[in-house]
This record gives sequence, structure tokens and C-alpha cells, in this order.
Amino acid sequence: TVGAVAVDREGNVACATSTGGMLNKMEGRVGDTPCIGSGGYADNQSGAVSTTGVGEAIMKVTLARLILFHMEQGQSVEAASDLGLAHMKSRVGGLGGVVTVDPQGRWAARFNSLQMAWAAGQNGTLHYGLYAGEDFTQSM
Ligand code: ASP
Repeated sequence: TVGAVAVDREGNVACATSTGGMLNKMEGRVGDTPCIGSGGYADNQSGAVSTTGVGEAIMKVTLARLILFHMEQGQSVEAASDLGLAHMKSRVGGLGGVVTVDPQGRWAARFNSLQMAWAAGQNGTLHYGLYAGEDFTQSM
């Protein structure tokens, strides 16, 4: 997956998600990526999410929309992302990762898969990582 979320200075949010699908996928398989609410969702009132991971699990819990629901209930980008991923793991046994942003520009890159390469640019600073807990920072 290559996924992105963005917010402009007026608080407009957007998401984009692209994928090659799963290895050895069934012919004709439609994964989560093109399904609104699963591979991504964006709403100026709550934020934007782009997802990666096991598409069948992501679709069962509509992961992107689920995370924004948690944000609408007052959860932070980190907490909402973790709640969505934890629910997916416990409910349908799927692992994955997400990038999430809210209209104020607060962002999170969270995953319960083994690794997820991610990067975030904000106010002249680049943050990036690969494994959970990593957050390398440099000036852009
Ligand atoms: N979510 C994608 C799929 O199941 C795989 C990926 O993470 O790129 O098609």
C-alpha cells in the first residue's frame, strides 16, 4: 500500500490509498482499498484515515470509518487509531496499519502489523519510522 492523508491550512482533510492487493490474490478480488470507509475515509468534521493490511479484515470492520467514529466520540488520533486496530484484531483477527490526521493537523501513524514504513511532514520537520515506537526526526 501507499497511503496518504493531508490537511490544508483551512482544515480541509483528504485521504488517498493505492495498493497492489494481496500476494496470490484470487482473480477478480476487490480489496478494501477502493471501498470507501475501509481503505480510506475523509470528513472535514473529524479527519482522514488511510489504511493498509489484510483487506478482508479491514472491510469487515470498515476500519477507516471506525477510527473516525472514535474521533467523533472525542478520542485523539493516536487513541482512535489504536482502538480501531485493536477492534479489528480482536473481532476478526486481522492486522494492519493506518495513517490518521484531524482537521487541526494532529496526526498518527499506528500499526499492529510487524512493521509499517511511514513518514510525516509538518512545519518544516520530517518524522519517519518503520517499527512501532520509532520516530526519527529531521529538518526538511
Ligand atoms: N489492504 C490491501 C488489500 O488487502 C493490501 C495492502 O495493504 O496493500 O488488498
